[in-house]
Amino acid sequence: MKKKLTLIVFAFALVVPVGAQSGPAESPGHVQEPENHAIVVARLMRYHDSGEYEWGIREVANAARDYLRERAKTHYEEERAAAVFDIDETALSNWQAMADCGFCAYSIEAKLYSIAHDPAITPVLELYNEARSNAVATFFLTGRPESQRELTIANLKEAGYKDWNGLIMRPDGDKSPARVFKPQERRKIEDRGYHIILSIGDQASDLAGCCAERTFKLPNPFYLVQ
Ligand SMILES: [Mg+2]
Repeated sequence: MKKKLTLIVFAFALVVPVGAQSGPAESPGHVQEPENHAIVVARLMRYHDSGEYEWGIREVANAARDYLRERAKTHYEEERAAAVFDIDETALSNWQAMADCGFCAYSIEAKLYSIAHDPAITPVLELYNEARSNAVATFFLTGRPESQRELTIANLKEAGYKDWNGLIMRPDGDKSPARVFKPQERRKIEDRGYHIILSIGDQASDLAGCCAERTFKLPNPFYLVQ
């Protein structure tokens, strides 16, 4: 008897349309639409607030630190070892401005909020200090324009970064994509006699192309720089 009942329920499930179980059928003219912006923002906030973002940064920075320690012992004597750091969402965090404006573009954040007092991303500051203490030269390579040089220097110092060998910024008005600008600048560092053992950034475009022995990609689902 029980088996017969199961078969009846199963057959009924096959003939009842899904829409009939969950309310009225969709009206004609219904279209698929992208996920609502508010839902995406809420998901990104959870990713940050749960600690997952910070955990991911720590994992990547620790891997970079281990590589740096190992590599600093064995780098070629005729070339000086160097490490290249991106700035935004790598050396410094814009989290507060990003969250406040619902993940708007960096150019909008810069207009709406002070970007002069961004805090350090601690695991990256530790990596930076590890490089200095291993006699590895340190370079910042950023898409920020030259017009923000003084502000950026003050912010880096305030956040705890010291004694870098170079701060390379984009010429004012330069519109070349980061994936073009940054490899060109790394090539120039190497042309000066440095050997880049690692490059770290939060965008794929920070790390594409010439020149680094090893690249380390930090998580950043909040914006995209091509
Ligand atoms: Mg960045």
